[in-house]
Amino acid sequence: MLRKGMDKINFPLKEKYVIMVAPSFVTDFSYPDIIYRLKKLGFDKVVELTFGAKMVSREYHKLLNKSKGLVISSTCPGIVSTIENRYPELKNKLAKIDSPMVAMGKICKKYFPKHKIVFLSPCNFKKIEAENTRYVDNVIDFEELKNLFKKYKIKKKPFYRRGIRFDKFYNDYTKIYPLGGALAKTAHLKNILHEKEFSSIDGIQHVMKFLSEKHDNIKFLDCLFCEGGCIGGPHTNKDLSINKKRKKIIAYLKKSMKEDIPEDRKGLLNKAEGISFSN
Ligand code: SF4
Repeated sequence: MLRKGMDKINFPLKEKYVIMVAPSFVTDFSYPDIIYRLKKLGFDKVVELTFGAKMVSREYHKLLNKSKGLVISSTCPGIVSTIENRYPELKNKLAKIDSPMVAMGKICKKYFPKHKIVFLSPCNFKKIEAENTRYVDNVIDFEELKNLFKKYKIKKKPFYRRGIRFDKFYNDYTKIYPLGGALAKTAHLKNILHEKEFSSIDGIQHVMKFLSEKHDNIKFLDCLFCEGGCIGGPHTNKDLSINKKRKKIIAYLKKSMKEDIPEDRKGLLNKAEGISFSN
């Protein structure tokens, strides 16, 4: 169902909200401090987007296991918009699979039906995408969140007791999703396609160059608008190089893998039962 525009979000929050945090947040915020500060800001539930990403990767695996012609990833709204506007002849090649934001929005609507759903984003393209789905009520970008923390004087906590965690849906291996090539990796495409049959490209100039050339063998194009992937998003930390941001993602993944997460907070497959992730 399409709708026009996003709902307004006013602080201090008067209703119950769940915020879905893009894993690229580590370029600008620290873990688990981000959870503490978002709760201070009034969010009732704080979840990571990684479970939605996991379900999306599974859908790509299934699709590419049986597809014949070219498929182009539709996880990045910047790429979807570029294809629709500049390469309309390729529009039907875009995978009819939800983006991680929409997939996670569907999961949150199931588990928190009375909450409003907000996405914490590294870019503006997600705001445009959210205008066309009923599964996400609003999008806040990293810079807007920093301003909110400043306005409401929500500072970093100097130390933590054990137990500050995302409310639900932990998933480790899709924490790499903000990196170029992560979709192909987390969808385990090497098990079903020859490495010459898929290509991962980040940075819109590189993607456009690739699209202007002839590639007979390619069955899957895994592409992201920003250089480096979502870690290069326009609202991410401008003072860090892509390489340093990439290291932060890997460090976050490693740290998280050592955590002892209770079963009820894990993004287990049965929690997505009955939800369709195609569009
Ligand atoms: S690659 Fe860039 S435009 Fe695409 S979803 Fe990530 S941050 Fe947004």
